[in-house]
Amino acid sequence: MGINTGVVSAIERAPRLTDNHGRAINYLRLAVTDRCNLRCFYCMPGEGINWLQRSELMSYEEMLRISRVLVGMGIDKIRITGGEPFVRRDLMDFLTALSATPGLQKIAVTTNGVLTAPYLPELKKLGINTFNLSLDTLDRNRFFSMTRRDELPAVLNTLDALLSHDMDIRINAVVMENKNIQDILNLVELARDLPVGVRFIEEMPFNGSDHQYKGLSWDHVRILSFIREAYPGIKKIPDPQFSTSMNYMIPGFKGNIGIIAAYTRSFCGTCNRVRITPQGMLKTCLYDDGVLNVRDLMRAENTDDQLAGALLDAINRRANNGWEAESKRLKPVAEHESMATIGG
Ligand code: SAM
Ligand code: SF4
Repeated sequence: MGINTGVVSAIERAPRLTDNHGRAINYLRLAVTDRCNLRCFYCMPGEGINWLQRSELMSYEEMLRISRVLVGMGIDKIRITGGEPFVRRDLMDFLTALSATPGLQKIAVTTNGVLTAPYLPELKKLGINTFNLSLDTLDRNRFFSMTRRDELPAVLNTLDALLSHDMDIRINAVVMENKNIQDILNLVELARDLPVGVRFIEEMPFNGSDHQYKGLSWDHVRILSFIREAYPGIKKIPDPQFSTSMNYMIPGFKGNIGIIAAYTRSFCGTCNRVRITPQGMLKTCLYDDGVLNVRDLMRAENTDDQLAGALLDAINRRANNGWEAESKRLKPVAEHESMATIGG
């Protein structure tokens, strides 16, 4: 089995979901857990965060239901994220069921790669072949200092396994002053011989309040000029529709380079995505603090039509961009959550 294959007729029939600003919404990022086996400095404190109780987490049945409802409304791509998706028990059973959702065209996965490699043959059979692998450094000591775990070998093993299974791979690195600037060019070098997209992400303030966000010192302009200094031939290439990254090629390289202006937010105008957090909170923008709790609606025995109505209403009240979403937050900006509870 694989992702539902009634592809052409499903696309033709798929309704078009748009927000109040006329933007198409066809992409859900679904966080299946807030738990993680790493403690990345930019995402959570060393001691972890206040993990959600099991009863607070959406069950797989609830996730399948809300996915089915949203796919019926026009979502055709779902990215599984977290926390670290592979620490949640029975993830493969969930993915098997999710991949049979009628009308769903694509499932992608974002992972830190520590536990991922053994699941790749089964994932491939399900038609899941698009992966974002988080990797901020190729140096084992710096990996340890950034993630507080000595797991670089496991992550590199997953990278090898992804390549040998011919998966579509993007490597995501958050760029941070005093942490991994010396790794930027080594990561760029990965794209010389490997067919991967290496993407550099501006650090965002969602660090679980371990340390105060000091403001952005490496924005997309600075990241690009740093890379351009070493590779003067780097050239802009067209960005795929709805891309959050600005994309570049370096002559002779097999892979390409992307830069994601996650903090300066230059991509909001074409944003096609919504998020559901592990506790079932719909976020119509990464920077809002949640606009609808779908878990509670499901537990209050609302019908699918009622769920769809509430989702539509929320999508029709969507902020125009990340700055507006942030300004409307009920919780002050200083009380930042962790990306693991948002679903990065
Ligand atoms: N655990 C998985 C992983 O690390 O790939 C999935 C969840 S993680 C929250 C998703 C993405 O969010 C990762 O690529 C991570 O680098 C990114 N991320 C986490 N905290 C961030 C921050 N403060 N600023 C920018 N990106 C962040
Ligand atoms: Fe875990 Fe991913 Fe957050 Fe790192 S970025 S702590 S791997 S959830």
